[in-house]
Amino acid sequence: MQSDRVRGRLAPSPTGAQHLGNARTFLIAWLHVRSSQGELLLRVEDLDTPRTKSWANQQAIDDLRWLGIDWDQTAPLQSSRTDRYLDALEQLKRQELVYPCTCSRTQIEACSSAPHESFLDGVVYPGRCADRSALDAPKLDAQGHRYAWRFRFSQGTMQWIDDYLGPQQLDAKVSLGDFIVARNYGPPAYQLAVTVDDHEQEINHVVRGDDLVYSTYRQLAIYRALGWEPPGWLHVPLVVGPDGKRLAKRHGDSRLSYWREQGVRPEQIIGSLAKSLRLTQTDAPIGSKDLLAIAKNKQQWWLDIPRGPWVFDQDQNNHSE
Ligand code: GLU
Ligand code: ZN
Repeated sequence: MQSDRVRGRLAPSPTGAQHLGNARTFLIAWLHVRSSQGELLLRVEDLDTPRTKSWANQQAIDDLRWLGIDWDQTAPLQSSRTDRYLDALEQLKRQELVYPCTCSRTQIEACSSAPHESFLDGVVYPGRCADRSALDAPKLDAQGHRYAWRFRFSQGTMQWIDDYLGPQQLDAKVSLGDFIVARNYGPPAYQLAVTVDDHEQEINHVVRGDDLVYSTYRQLAIYRALGWEPPGWLHVPLVVGPDGKRLAKRHGDSRLSYWREQGVRPEQIIGSLAKSLRLTQTDAPIGSKDLLAIAKNKQQWWLDIPRGPWVFDQDQNNHSE
């Protein structure tokens, strides 16, 4: 049974250093839970091997603590929960909601007629293997094939309401295409792991970057298939460089660990984030607790977050000055 109390999570991926964009999303997630007397879980999402770096796990924790973002519980690493994800996969197999796909990336790209830029969220899987049954898997295994388990979207419009973006709708089968939940080699995929975790860890409100808006359709389809109650979702704009592209090395070093080493104070970072969220009028340094007090005094403060990405200009926001 889900309680009415908000239960959110911080879900860093230890695939590299956490940067200003991650900090902004974590700060919003933290303020959202703490301004509504909720509970917050830290869950390190370390399934994305081999991109996961061993040093990045502890560093993400150090970054959060340094910023003054705390949590109430720590979830086990995803890499220790593979059996839970595989259990869910079995349920999807029994319902014939997944099928083994042996296509290579090249085959998939060759099959899709549309230019890649026209896709909303990656190449739409053209459905080459969709006639297969889950029961075909043992034969493929015996023949030594590598395959991915694809989730079979049903046709028709899916709808959900984002707490910041408002109503969302899409024919996911057409616009996104069947998606990967696991492979017969390697760990289960993000879409399955995050859904099982959010459900089992009783997360009822998810705050994350809007690069994951389309993933929400995929996760919602898994919730429905497994008969689980989905959480609420709130997707926030990303941080970009002056060229409008997602924050990257060429925009200057925006790693939190770098600033920490340079002697930047966390209050300086929270200060500029606070202004970017329209919680304060200036980017004067402020601690996370003081910012929380401001958020608590403002009904649904997150609705005031400026629409569209926040442009971070290293030269104008030079924290190391
Ligand atoms: N671990 C993911 C990331 O760092 C977040 C996944 C999620 O919030 O659902 O991008
Ligand atoms: Zn295929």
